[in-house]
Amino acid sequence: MFFSKLLIPTLREFPSDADMISAKLMIKSGMIRKLASGIYEFLPLGLKVLRKIENIIRHEMSVIGGQEIVLPLVFPKSLWIETGRWDVYGKELFRLKDRKCVEFCLAPTAEEVIVDLVRKDVKSYRQLPIMLYQFGTKFRDEIRPRFGVMRSREFLMKDAYSFHVDELDLKKYYQIMFDAYKNIFVKCGLKFCVVESASGPIGGSLSHEFMILADNGETEVVWCKCGYSATSEKAECLRVEGCKGELYTMEEIFTPNTGGAIEDVVKFLGLSPRKLVKTLIYVADGNPVAVLVRGDHEVNETKLQTLLKVNEIILADEQTVTSIINTPIDFAGPVGLRNINVIADLSVVEILNAISGANKKDYHVKNINYKRDYDVNIVADIRKVVSGEICPRCKEEELKFLRGIEIGHIFKLNTRYSKPMNATYLDSRGKENFIFMGCYGLGVTRIVAAAIEQSHDDSGIIWPDNITPFEVLIVPLDYYDDRTKEVTEKIYRELSSKGLDVLVDDRDERPGVKFKDADLIGIPYRITIGKKNLTDGNVEFKTRRDSKSNVKLLKPEEVISRVFKIFKK
Ligand code: ATP
Ligand code: MG
Repeated sequence: MFFSKLLIPTLREFPSDADMISAKLMIKSGMIRKLASGIYEFLPLGLKVLRKIENIIRHEMSVIGGQEIVLPLVFPKSLWIETGRWDVYGKELFRLKDRKCVEFCLAPTAEEVIVDLVRKDVKSYRQLPIMLYQFGTKFRDEIRPRFGVMRSREFLMKDAYSFHVDELDLKKYYQIMFDAYKNIFVKCGLKFCVVESASGPIGGSLSHEFMILADNGETEVVWCKCGYSATSEKAECLRVEGCKGELYTMEEIFTPNTGGAIEDVVKFLGLSPRKLVKTLIYVADGNPVAVLVRGDHEVNETKLQTLLKVNEIILADEQTVTSIINTPIDFAGPVGLRNINVIADLSVVEILNAISGANKKDYHVKNINYKRDYDVNIVADIRKVVSGEICPRCKEEELKFLRGIEIGHIFKLNTRYSKPMNATYLDSRGKENFIFMGCYGLGVTRIVAAAIEQSHDDSGIIWPDNITPFEVLIVPLDYYDDRTKEVTEKIYRELSSKGLDVLVDDRDERPGVKFKDADLIGIPYRITIGKKNLTDGNVEFKTRRDSKSNVKLLKPEEVISRVFKIFKK
């Protein structure tokens, strides 16, 4: 293809409102344009990359037996009512009404619709397992759209759904999909890691996120040398036994002017925050619960939500707190707490002679001990992991914190959707059973940005070979010089004849402009053709990654065979 005929509107400057290097480069290189907050147009260069990624994914999905379909973008509310997600999904869901006031939403993910399809058309164990997938635009009214197409409100996702007779079959397929995801990301030239993660509003029993590590990533990842890794939302905490010793007598202490704030109370008493039991009151789907964590720990609301199997969990307002403990929250404590379910973190019940609020203004109690002075309804892992603590798997190494960008997420859903939607099959004995299900999302548009985030330099993008918009860029310095044009077209024709995607910069621009754009758009291999080198019959060959000085002078035939070798043609 010829540069002069394509819409590649490169910019001289970075756009002022882009907030991540990949977003800046995608706009500057003319791959995308912003239409509105979180809504982007893909121009020819951007679309070519998107399609290459799509084809890598399509290949891997078909290798593992996937069947491609296309689902609508507008979904009826009625299906979302069946699973209870119409109310749970919240403001991220774009909702709309038709002229008859029937409600719909724009697809943010398609579990309801695909289960509806399968329950109508899959009736027998003979039709299972089955995996259906699509490339579909997804709409999510993100609270903070940012980072270009990385977190946009409209994006392309590959969503796949598999259906099985039982959990064992789903478990086997989950592993097959897991491996297919790895193949996809390797082929896209990404350095990635896989972490255990929380399932969030999608639900289910097990999920993994595929991440690329990036300092400015939005997801916090906990990592251990032994191989354990998880999102910090999911990361487990190791149960550490508390110190044994004499239980002292419980005593009420007057803590005036501390305001109850932990740091102040701890300072006032000259103690470590590890001795303190922090009490918080949450409202979980409308019901108050008291939550206890150690003074130096924080509640992990995702873990709490999963434990309680609720849709929403929020800190109680002052009025709710007063109605339960009749004092400001800072003086709350587990001793004598009544009429409310109490959940304690694993580490709380291990504290010997702890301190907590006394449920009385300006008072705390000291030397409180689990079971002797207070009881709880549930003891569970409900806190956030902190850097430097010991890994829950190997129980030896210290955990480290990294940041990442999620590019894919796979879920073992079991019967989370088939039960409420009554999706069943008949087994070989004619018995009706619920279908087991997995779902597997992959952000195609996000991968474009993630690849750039991982592979760029000060001058622009450096595309991995498999997802580059063009494999080779030919830069004739003066396209209208007869000899230059002849050699350019010869190389172009030969490379194209073996299916390579070649871009010729035939524009009437200064070499400096052409080279700047070449570095910006990041085509991995560049052939430069100029009158001077042609007098010796040579052209220049250079990879995008090479430094400027590493330019090779080669005969046109040599350059062609070198490129064929690189792309195994
Ligand atoms: P995140 O935690 O980043 O919001 P998510 O858990 O909501 O992601 P999933 O519902 O698992 O995402 O969607 C599958 C994939 O779709 C993600 O792994 C990601 O690559 C992509 N994706 C999700 N939200 C967006 C978005 N707003 N813009 C672009 N891609 C997205
Ligand atoms: Mg999200």
